Amino acid sequence: MTSLADIPSEARCKQLIHELVAHQSTHPPCGQRIAWKRNREYGWCRHCRTKIRPKAATWLRGSNLRYQVIFFLLKAWQSRQSPGSIRATVGLSYPTIQRWYMRFRRHLPPDGGELLSGVVAVDEAWFGKKRYGGQTIVMGGIEVDTRRLRLRVIPDTDQDSIELFLQAWVTRGTHLITDAAASYNGVEWLGYSRESYNHSACHFGQTNHIECIWSAMKRHLRKLYGCIPTTHLAVFLREWEARHNQRSLFESPLSYLRATVVPD
Ligand SMILES: [Zn+2]
Repeated sequence: MTSLADIPSEARCKQLIHELVAHQSTHPPCGQRIAWKRNREYGWCRHCRTKIRPKAATWLRGSNLRYQVIFFLLKAWQSRQSPGSIRATVGLSYPTIQRWYMRFRRHLPPDGGELLSGVVAVDEAWFGKKRYGGQTIVMGGIEVDTRRLRLRVIPDTDQDSIELFLQAWVTRGTHLITDAAASYNGVEWLGYSRESYNHSACHFGQTNHIECIWSAMKRHLRKLYGCIPTTHLAVFLREWEARHNQRSLFESPLSYLRATVVPD
């Protein structure tokens, strides 16, 4: 569990964001040191007295949270802590924390979009409750060696939908590990080799790689929301891909901010 003591001080957090934006710790025009005070929204140049507001140059502008609290929320989100478990520490409401988590997801930088290759386990999973007709089907593929991941919502599990996913995200020549569903019967024609396991006979074999992704995602969604919501599912899938494909973004608050707050 993260505590505020694990986060740099308020003045230090301001300074860190300023350094990301200005690429230096001093005031750019005059190169003089900046005074950062804990209880001021801004710092000021010791030489020319200009006020410096580090958030203003980033997507964090407009938020009234202290810098240290933003760092804390980031760290909690990166380490998959539920809003309920941190709200007493930060003194924020459950919806406010959820909103920040969503902002962090939406500001994830795009990954390179590389296709999967080598040996790839693929499968589909249903999210949401059948009873309310709100079920969404997600198709996923994971590279067995690197754990690189692709997840997309698909309209149905027909052969066409599955083949469209494969052609969009998996290199030809890849060895696919699938279940025994008939929808995969044509993949050899598309240039893939295939090995299938019969789930209903409890032969999960290598498809376990992707089965584990489904159970981890569902467990995490239940922890965050108490259920498995299908609204915003695409954003959530994007986060899960990033946790696998862009791991450095989840190392520390600064590693995430370095990739997302710098104006280009
Ligand atoms: Zn100055």
